Amino acid sequence: MHIGNLRTALFAYLFAKSQNGKFILRIEDTDQGRYVEGAVDVIYDTLRTAGLIHDEGPDIGGDYGPYVQSERKGMYRKYAEELVAKGCAYYCFCQKGDKESDSQEGYDRHCRNLSKEEIEANLAAGKPYVIRQRIPLDGTTSWNDLVYGEISVDNSTLDDQVLLKSDGMPTYNFANVVDDHLMNITHIIRGSEYLSSNPKYLLLYQAFGWETPEYIHLPIINGRNADGSISKLSKRHGAVSFQALVEQGYLPEGIVNYIALLGWSPKSEQEIFAMDELISQFSIAGVHKSPAVFDYQKLGWVNGQHISRIDPQIFMRDALPYAHIEGTFLESKWTKLASLLQSRIAKYSDIPEKIAFLLEMPEYDVNLFVNKKNKSTLESSASILRQVIERLSSQEDWSEEALLAAMTDMATGAGLKLGPLTWPVRIALSGLMATPGGAIDILYLLGKDEALRRLSDGLRLIGKENLVDEK
Ligand code: ZN
Repeated sequence: MHIGNLRTALFAYLFAKSQNGKFILRIEDTDQGRYVEGAVDVIYDTLRTAGLIHDEGPDIGGDYGPYVQSERKGMYRKYAEELVAKGCAYYCFCQKGDKESDSQEGYDRHCRNLSKEEIEANLAAGKPYVIRQRIPLDGTTSWNDLVYGEISVDNSTLDDQVLLKSDGMPTYNFANVVDDHLMNITHIIRGSEYLSSNPKYLLLYQAFGWETPEYIHLPIINGRNADGSISKLSKRHGAVSFQALVEQGYLPEGIVNYIALLGWSPKSEQEIFAMDELISQFSIAGVHKSPAVFDYQKLGWVNGQHISRIDPQIFMRDALPYAHIEGTFLESKWTKLASLLQSRIAKYSDIPEKIAFLLEMPEYDVNLFVNKKNKSTLESSASILRQVIERLSSQEDWSEEALLAAMTDMATGAGLKLGPLTWPVRIALSGLMATPGGAIDILYLLGKDEALRRLSDGLRLIGKENLVDEK
């Protein structure tokens, strides 16, 4: 499911729940030509995983079923005929309009004014027909959109769309109006791409004499291109389906939190929300019409906040498959490693990169040892590494507590704070400016042999550098 569709579902869910309303799932499958095997399952899976639990729907029933439009097929003809009788719709025998796309191609209104005799003759001859909406030729149709405000459209710009196809199946444009009325839908929330169709829906409500629902159109979601410009969010910007984001290791609650902010601004400065907080704080007044820009960095930050809040046991279980440490020395140290990672990743798939240095020592620049804040130079680093190697070579207890005690003891002996002592150690162990965890964590994770090997290699690297300098 494209995150734009999920955002629409989320806003509908949040609005319904914030008003003590009901969130109804209806499957709109009248365009059988576009039917995709498995697509309905994706809808169920996505809504459930994202926590958008419907109160009524095909799987659980409710007062207004059936909730699958193709199963309601027999209900629509009556309403289409009602409009024909009222002069608001007409039979069209042009044998065009059975495909959903036909309604977008415009229609020359050939059958709009057929005589009663012509119609009856055609019917008697068994000619197939569709029923089209008779759009007023002049005047305007207006409504007050709860996000976009007052909107007025000239009726002359609208086409006589097909309502009922020749096989009796309604078009989406007709079925959604009839069903929204029959199901007592009060608020319609959808993407702004439907703004242009809305007058046709309103004219149908007027023709029936039904009360119109409130309309809430949501701003489009853009993505940022490499050159800084923006365009409609698509695959070239990154993963755009809920499923793909989940596969990359984003949490459903992180994705939901982030997409809630695409077009909606909370009243407070709060940015991290659980679903119940979203429900209590959501309001249509906070929805704006300016396009939203999908920002993967912000998504990562929001998701990282959610990851840092989940139960550590759950994190250990869910993050492990992403770590790819099976059969390595890190497997037995996952508890420790997971505790370091939980607050330091944006998504689960960040894990391999974060821990790669533990599995294989990267090449690094000797100047990483030089650090102003820790008063670390190549000379001081060499001296510290020598002492640490000597001390740890005879270290029997390789527990974190014992390592901390040993390092603290050495720092005290050298008249140093722990930071300046551990800087060169951490660099020699990781070859990185920043690591998940400090020197003691990494000493522990690597184990004695590998840790001492890396410390000696670090010392050798500094020694090489000094030789070069002397030349
Ligand atoms: Zn026609």
